[in-house]
Amino acid sequence: MSLVAGTALREERPKTVSEQSMRALTLVADRKIELVDIASPPAPSAGEVQIGIKAIGLNHIDVWGWRGMAFAKRKLPLVVGAEAAGEIRAVGPDVTAFRVGDRVVAYGALTCGTCKACREGRDNLCENVGGIMGFHVDGFARDLVNMPARLVVPVPDGLSFRDAACAPVAFSTVQHMLFDNAKLEPGETILVQAGGSGIGTVAIKMAKAIGCTVITTVGDDAKMAKAKALGADHVINYRTERFETIVRKLTAKKGVDVAFEHVGPDTFNGSLLCLKRGGRLVTCGSTSGQSTTINLFQLFLQQYRIFGSFGASLRNIRESLAKMASGLLPVIDTEVALADFERGLARLESRQVFGKIIVTF
Ligand SMILES: [Zn+2]
Repeated sequence: MSLVAGTALREERPKTVSEQSMRALTLVADRKIELVDIASPPAPSAGEVQIGIKAIGLNHIDVWGWRGMAFAKRKLPLVVGAEAAGEIRAVGPDVTAFRVGDRVVAYGALTCGTCKACREGRDNLCENVGGIMGFHVDGFARDLVNMPARLVVPVPDGLSFRDAACAPVAFSTVQHMLFDNAKLEPGETILVQAGGSGIGTVAIKMAKAIGCTVITTVGDDAKMAKAKALGADHVINYRTERFETIVRKLTAKKGVDVAFEHVGPDTFNGSLLCLKRGGRLVTCGSTSGQSTTINLFQLFLQQYRIFGSFGASLRNIRESLAKMASGLLPVIDTEVALADFERGLARLESRQVFGKIIVTF
């Protein structure tokens, strides 16, 4: 079936759960995404809900998947999209927690729900995880998706789908990094690397919201003003100044309590150098490469604590949505249409962004 015919069909009649086909964005080869028609999912089974997807948030994990990653075990074609918001279109026979029309977001990985980590609410450490949506298994970039109801979280009234779509990955990853791992406290000083990125903008806002002093780095002067406007106390253009030197000056040679990392080799050792004795570095990414060397003497003599952080818990998603509902909203760089998903990825890869890129349906 052609894409054009499929699109025209939907304009004439509203979608229903019995519709035979739906749009899906599928990765067919490295760096090649196609908008195709695929079969709609069946009615949800026991324990499942069917979600009509309304918005998708793009993250670096989408870029990794798009480029092709050696560690990703997956079969192509694969429906892309790791982070989404939508509304309930149907519920399984025994599902009472949701009703048709409820606005929701979904967890971005198929956890088992029964292992020790899952039972303890450490969902991102699930021992039997079935894969990350849009990366290992089919993701959210399609009109309808069936999900286990236990992995679905209600969206507070008044939040847009666009904003809510930033909760499951971007917001909750930062929530998990700052508060579960680095245990950031009010009054502390934090260095946020790449403050103009999707998660960087969230980290600045979350840290300012609890009264921290925020120092952040950006890659051009235009982003300096934008980071300031978000509330960052000090903004450093890392292309024109050495951030390590500036941070040392700003903290009277003491260093920061926490460094928020996701850039990788380009900044990792510099971030460590910026820490005070006993400081904490938390990292969830490495966009500038996979490996670096670190000075082990510096590590133990300075008593640094380094946290690797990946994903978040369902609780972190609820916490993120609550923060949004209280006014801590995501910074949106651009909204693109479903067919322009790949253009959004290219923009994200180029790092010419300030905030999140959202794909709307
Ligand atoms: Zn589990």
